Amino acid sequence: MPSKDLYEVLGISRNAEADEIKSAYRRLARRYHPDVNPNDPSAEEKFKEVGSAYSVLSDPAKRARYDQTGSTDDQPSDPFFQGGNISDIFDVFFGGGGQSAGRRRSGRDGEDVRVDLELTLKDVINGIHTEVVVNRKTECSSCHGTGGEGGKAPETCSTCRGQGQVSTVRNTFIGQVRTSTTCPTCGGAGTVVKDPCKTCKGRAVVPETAKVAVQIPPGFEDGATLHVPGQGSDGVGEGRPGDLYVVLQVTNDQRFQRHGQTLYTILDVTFAQAALGDRVEIQGVEDTVELTVPAGTQPGTQIAIRSGGLPPLHGGRRGDLIVQVNVKVPTKLSETEAKLIREFAELRGEDIPKGDEKGGILGGLFHKKR
Ligand SMILES: [Zn+2]
Ligand SMILES: [Zn+2]
Repeated sequence: MPSKDLYEVLGISRNAEADEIKSAYRRLARRYHPDVNPNDPSAEEKFKEVGSAYSVLSDPAKRARYDQTGSTDDQPSDPFFQGGNISDIFDVFFGGGGQSAGRRRSGRDGEDVRVDLELTLKDVINGIHTEVVVNRKTECSSCHGTGGEGGKAPETCSTCRGQGQVSTVRNTFIGQVRTSTTCPTCGGAGTVVKDPCKTCKGRAVVPETAKVAVQIPPGFEDGATLHVPGQGSDGVGEGRPGDLYVVLQVTNDQRFQRHGQTLYTILDVTFAQAALGDRVEIQGVEDTVELTVPAGTQPGTQIAIRSGGLPPLHGGRRGDLIVQVNVKVPTKLSETEAKLIREFAELRGEDIPKGDEKGGILGGLFHKKR
C-alpha cells in the first residue's frame, strides 16, 4: 500500500480533470520508462508508482473511493508495468481504454495513432528528417465535423444532459460512493445527432492517410518512441486531437552488434596476418576505416576504433567501434602446406602434431576426396 499521495505522485491538483491526469501520466511514464533509464532502479520504482497512481485516478470509481477513504483497495496486478518494453505504454492509450472520465467539454477526443518507422544505423548517427504515413481520422468536410446532415449542429444528449457520464450513488459501509459510467445514449460525447451526415454516417470524422514530417534526433535506441502531439486523429466537437507516436525501429545490420553507443564487429584474419601483423580495412557504418592488426594478435583480441560507434541522444562524442579479432584456422591443407606446418612446429621446438584419428593430415585428405 503506497503511503505517498497519488495526486502528488502525478504532480497534479486534487480537482484535476481526466485529460490532465492522462497527460501527466504520459509525461511521467515516458520520463521514467525502464527503456529510457536502463540500470536505474529508482526510475523503475518511480515508473511503477506513476502507473499505480494512474490506474486509480483514471478510474472514476476508484478515484472517488480514494478521495473519500485515502485507500486504494485493489493494487494493480499491473500487467502493463512489469516489463521493460516501451510498447507497454501504448496498451494504456490505444484500443479505446474507455472514454476519459469526468469530462466537462462536450465532444470526443481524437484517438492516438502509432506508426512504426524503420531506420538504419546511419540514421542513428546523423538523425533524419523524414515523413511518416499516418492512417488517422480527420474532420468530415461534408458536415464540417458536426456529424449532422448539411452541417447541422448536434443536440445535447437528454440522457446525460450533455455530461457524457451517468452516475449512480450507492450507500456503503464507508459512506456514499459515486460511480460514473459512460452515457449509453451518446457514448460519452454529450451530444446526439438526429439526422446523421451521409458521408461520415454521423461520426463527424472520416479516415484519411496523411504524411507527417518528423525530425528524428541522432542517438535514438531501437524501439524508442517519438511523441508528436496533436498529429493523431481529429477530435469531435470540443474534443482534442490525439497524438502521434512514432516507434523507431533500427533495421538489423548483420555486421554490427549494438550496446548503447558502442558497436561491435568481428574481423576474420588468417593465422599469418595474426602472427605477422597487417593493415586491413574495416567496414564502419558509414565508411571504411584503416586498422592495424599488431603482430602476435591473439584470437578474441578487441581493438577499439575511437568514435566509430554511435552518438549519445542529445549530441556529443560518438561511442567506439570495437573490432573483435577472429583467427581463422585453415580447414583444408594440401600436402605441401601440411608439411610446412609440421616443419614450422619442429623449428619452434614444439611437439609435432600427430593429426586426427584418420591417420593424420593425409587421412584428412583421403576423407575429403569421397
Ligand atoms: Zn460528415
Ligand atoms: Zn449522453
